[in-house]
Amino acid sequence: TPDSMQPDATTTAVCGYCSTGCGLRVHMKDGEAVGLTPETKYPVNMGMACPKGWEALRVLESSDRATVPLLRGLDGQTREVSWDRALQFFTSRFKGIQKTHGKDSVAFLSTGQIACEEMAFLGALAKFGMGMLHGDGNTRQCMATAVTAYKESFGFDAPPYTYEDFEASDCLVFVGSNLCVGHPILWERVLRNRNQPQIIVLDPRRTETAMAATQHLQLLPKSDLALLYAITQHIIVAGLVDQQFVAEHTSGYEQLRQHVAAFTPDAVADQTGISAAEIRRAAETIGRAGAASLWWTMGVNQSYEGTRTAQAIINIALLTGNIGRPGTGANSVTGQCNAMGSRLWSNTTNLFGHHRFEDPQHRQKIADCLNIDPQLIPQQNGWSYDRIMEGVRKGEIRGLWVVATNPAHSWIEQGDARELLDRLDFLVVQDMYHSTETARHADLLLPAAGWGEKEGTFINSERRYMLHKRVKKAPGQALADFQIFRAIAHYWGVGEMFSQWTDPQAVFRIMQAASAGTWCDITGIEDFQHIDRQRGIQWPWSADSAADGPPATQRRLFADGHFAHPDGRARLIVDDLTPLPERPDEYFPFFLLTGRGTVSQWHTQTRTSKSPVLRKLYPQQPYVEIHPYDAGRLNIQHGDQVAVASRRGRVTVTAFVTPTVARGQAFMPMHYEVTNQLTLRHFDPYSKQPSYKDCAVSLQPAAAE
Ligand code: SF4
Repeated sequence: TPDSMQPDATTTAVCGYCSTGCGLRVHMKDGEAVGLTPETKYPVNMGMACPKGWEALRVLESSDRATVPLLRGLDGQTREVSWDRALQFFTSRFKGIQKTHGKDSVAFLSTGQIACEEMAFLGALAKFGMGMLHGDGNTRQCMATAVTAYKESFGFDAPPYTYEDFEASDCLVFVGSNLCVGHPILWERVLRNRNQPQIIVLDPRRTETAMAATQHLQLLPKSDLALLYAITQHIIVAGLVDQQFVAEHTSGYEQLRQHVAAFTPDAVADQTGISAAEIRRAAETIGRAGAASLWWTMGVNQSYEGTRTAQAIINIALLTGNIGRPGTGANSVTGQCNAMGSRLWSNTTNLFGHHRFEDPQHRQKIADCLNIDPQLIPQQNGWSYDRIMEGVRKGEIRGLWVVATNPAHSWIEQGDARELLDRLDFLVVQDMYHSTETARHADLLLPAAGWGEKEGTFINSERRYMLHKRVKKAPGQALADFQIFRAIAHYWGVGEMFSQWTDPQAVFRIMQAASAGTWCDITGIEDFQHIDRQRGIQWPWSADSAADGPPATQRRLFADGHFAHPDGRARLIVDDLTPLPERPDEYFPFFLLTGRGTVSQWHTQTRTSKSPVLRKLYPQQPYVEIHPYDAGRLNIQHGDQVAVASRRGRVTVTAFVTPTVARGQAFMPMHYEVTNQLTLRHFDPYSKQPSYKDCAVSLQPAAAE
């Protein structure tokens, strides 16, 4: 580095990609970031970072950054306009639609990528200021199942663990989670475990995580619920239930015992593809472990029976007393950097901080915290993402405001999703880039600052509030989402309502007031500097915790066996299996699995594709993984072009022949635009989360088409 570029200061910020929440030391020169390194003292990552984190600054410099508002004219062309013109247009179009079609005819789709304070602002502005009833986050695509499962089982959406549990377990069970790739730094925490733990992986693919497992149960796709019930059944018959814990802290045991009685290991062997001996061995390994922890991610959440599958995992933790102790837990690992913040503060399917829209006392409390009339708070939940899209189809939703998410790529059954976006009378996209698939459909594009160009808090998977900071200027006229919301409040005519919402820290204080007396109480946090000094603070952190609680790095929930239901007991919840919506058949004989393909790309590649380093680490052309047996049968060679077709679409991709997928299955990473042209629009009935991993496809050499 030349002397003129030598940093003159450093600061710590948290990474803005995944929910791990790695601390990054940002090197500054004259107040601008010039480089970064992983933060060695951050308790999450301890000096480690994956390639995305290392490249976090580079992606801010891309030539397709949105730097000025763009408005589409009657000729279909977009033109640069001033912020004043853009916000006048935003206001007049949305108000006009509301006047003609009713207030509920406009909605918003938000994200797990912006700060808690920005989510809170958007949720309050849209629902209390602009009168929208419907809004949801892209977290519906990744975490809704875990939320629903926790709420029903524990009484509160409360992932109970800390990352130290990775290191303290005797037995780690990963269900539908390729932690190695999805959360590489958390996998490093597993590697720090000195207990020589058993690692059990339930996954249809032989993933990187499965290769490191001591037991890989390579089950047939979508047989996980039956397999988990069989494991539960064997835990019961082998006498491995923690009877005292179950009696004192749970309800529903007898119903569960009767329900799983039919799921003997022998009975489900064919259905799951796992031998009875393997099932018994896994059950006994879990049941006999001193401390077993069970972890799940999208393989469970993105399923049409995801909620019940997550609860089957929770059941096993409860039955074996593996909760509230070091190395234990039924632990959902979140996806996006602030998915946990979205769960608490987006004001979408629960009222600010897990209050209920339906409860008049909750509405009054939040109205008091926000200093607004309680009549402004809707008395019911708004629609979930899938229902908003259906609302567009039915003409109920005419205007949509999309903030930092990319449904034209990521929403299930993409062809349908794009058609719906084009049906809208008015589509506003607020994003860092003007080139996303969704931005290309926008009538109005509002240029937003990105990670590193603004400040606020994220909450990571272990419930840790962390600070991300402004270390660079946003390009051109791009503004922090927070500032855009403030400006919109003013143009909408509700600026007075948000006069106290001057900066993220002011909003954080409002959030603290709203959290008082709840499971996610953060009233003991002093300010942003306190979060920074502590290198993150896990919720709950009430004034009492602040006085004499344990160190913030060692906190886990339910240590006293008291859960959030009124009777203090966790619920053991079981259900019947659901038939697979689209079973492979003679025309579409393969199961298509989708998911994360690499540590070097993120979601729809909106940001990560901007880094030459990250691009180099990953094939630029979309590909499909198929088993060598199937490749041979279909006369497909590694590297050939292959047509992959479902009942929704047909795409041509490169063949990647590998035994890591089983026969009769195929895998395509979600990072490529083509993948969701194939997926089938269906959902978990409880969480409304899309089921991305189970549609039927055909494969053939592209030349044979
Ligand atoms: Fe850490 Fe996730 Fe960022 Fe990688 S993407 S550095 S694992 S927070």
